[in-house]
Amino acid sequence: MPPTDIGPPDYKTMLHPVIKSNYGKWRYHEILKPGVLKHVAESGEAIYTVRAGSPRLLSTDRIREICDIADKYCDGYLRFTSRNNIEFLLDDPRKIDSLIDELETKNYPIGGTGHSISNVVHTQGWVHCHTPATDASGPVKAVMDELYDYFTEMKLPAHVRIALACCLNMCGAVHCSDIAILGIHRTVPKPDNSLVPNLCEIPTTVASCPTGAVRGDMKNKTVIVDEDKCMYCGNCYTVCPAMPIADPSNDGISIWVGGKVSNARSAPMFSKLVIPYLPNNPPRWPEVVQAVKNIVEVYAANARKHERLGEWIERVGWERFFTLTGIPFTDKHIDDFDMAIETFRTSAQFKWR
Ligand code: SF4
Ligand code: SF4
Repeated sequence: MPPTDIGPPDYKTMLHPVIKSNYGKWRYHEILKPGVLKHVAESGEAIYTVRAGSPRLLSTDRIREICDIADKYCDGYLRFTSRNNIEFLLDDPRKIDSLIDELETKNYPIGGTGHSISNVVHTQGWVHCHTPATDASGPVKAVMDELYDYFTEMKLPAHVRIALACCLNMCGAVHCSDIAILGIHRTVPKPDNSLVPNLCEIPTTVASCPTGAVRGDMKNKTVIVDEDKCMYCGNCYTVCPAMPIADPSNDGISIWVGGKVSNARSAPMFSKLVIPYLPNNPPRWPEVVQAVKNIVEVYAANARKHERLGEWIERVGWERFFTLTGIPFTDKHIDDFDMAIETFRTSAQFKWR
């Protein structure tokens, strides 16, 4: 069959030869130092990984530079992790130090392994998407500039995964990260009914709303939004460009904590809201940076070794978490949405300290 250009190419054709010949037959791995991993196969063959941070949104020049470095030290073998770390794959450990030297000369941070903060996965933000309530790369850059040492060293109790999504449709991993930075809208979309008939299909727009807040007038081809039912998700705007939701003075950021994907020691957890609103304050987002740094430092000072942030909070209790971090508990933390009963704590087992 002739090759097509539909869909991604088969990744197996691009695997490092050591990975290809030992696929699924690995014995163990170890972290030699921050940013350097060694995976050993049952056959005795080993592959080394040097992990570097990336800003996720990369220019063509930057991708070419990364590929040139991979060509020079790793026969061109590199990959990006799901959190956008760059991983250079080598089978010759003698090249590791010179590869790291070159990466550091070009200002790539080396780290993100083990008990560190890995690269922050984030979404498109003001650069690209149409529904963001905040920027993506901007707050991430500001936060990681402040937490840089937690990327390059492994001094935390356990892995800390930070994610940012610029709206709650959430192209990032904010539902399951130790710390999640989530853009929120706080006002309803504003339909421009002079444009709606030409730009939007009324049935599709009405059907796009998960809470039934959009009401359509089929005769006049217009829509209205029921403010009491709207949860500011922006879904209707994706379907109908004549009802924009962005609001410069009310949009902002919320902070969620305690999520994880890992099955180790405890089941995967969803992140929970701890700070309902922080203002958008570009270019350095000081309120967001301070909030994330505070949570990381309180966790680092209080958790036991190997305890993920959510596991630590479950052990000491959410009341204790709010006390230790100094984050105020407000009515905004109480879930009052339809079917909220499922999220309520229904036993009398409070942990007061
Ligand atoms: Fe767009 Fe929302 Fe995804 Fe951000 S999280 S890129 S605003 S859909
Ligand atoms: Fe419905 Fe979301 Fe649009 Fe509000 S923002 S009207 S909840 S689709």
